Amino acid sequence: MVTVLDASGQQLAPCSPEKAHRLLAGGRARLVSQDPMVIELALVAALRSRRVRAESSPPGEGRSLLLHVCCGPCATYSINRLRQMGFAVTGFWYNPNVHPFDEHERRRECISSYAREVGLPMVWPEGYEAQAYFEAVAGHEARAERCAICYRLRLGRTAQVAKQRGFDAFSTTLLISPYQKQTLIRGIGEELATQQGVEFCFENLRRGWGERGRLAREHGLYQQQYCGCTYSEQEATERSRAR
Ligand code: SF4
Repeated sequence: MVTVLDASGQQLAPCSPEKAHRLLAGGRARLVSQDPMVIELALVAALRSRRVRAESSPPGEGRSLLLHVCCGPCATYSINRLRQMGFAVTGFWYNPNVHPFDEHERRRECISSYAREVGLPMVWPEGYEAQAYFEAVAGHEARAERCAICYRLRLGRTAQVAKQRGFDAFSTTLLISPYQKQTLIRGIGEELATQQGVEFCFENLRRGWGERGRLAREHGLYQQQYCGCTYSEQEATERSRAR
């Protein structure tokens, strides 16, 4: 009987000399040794090397990703991590929840200058759609309800633009914050991905929360004192007065 190997040298079931010659003649195996006769299966070798290549390349390699950016500090580690995963990252600013307009502009300018600093291409929708936010949350101002609506509003626009512009995936810097509901954000992202036909990239960016703070200080980025909406500003003020 002839010994049959796969590409890693693992022994498969042996075969007859006649079968081994047929495999060699058809280019489906290569001869490792004549006496004793040992062959290596070409298909197994090709499949294995393809699998090894796939396993060793980063998950985002060769793929584009539209990243919803909530603010400069949260963008720091998030951009680095997604780039490290191989994605070609483009930022997307859409935060109609941020109130008042001055605060919105301050956060927008912060990410704008940081994006220039780190060579991040950005997509900027026109205008400030505060009305869209207030209409969406009207009657649902309790925190749990309004945050779910707020995530859906911002991620919904991100998924839509990702689809229109041909990105392979979308994600959000909201995934970095321990103050945001990560599981809920992931669920909404995956639901929108199915609707739009663009992958939602979930990565547990919270691992980089400490690094985010360090990078934000290092780059002198503006650090806001509340999440964004007028309700969160009020809640933050009340919390600090209570302390
Ligand atoms: S607290 Fe933050 S996430 Fe929740 S609704 Fe306000 S801005 Fe949106």
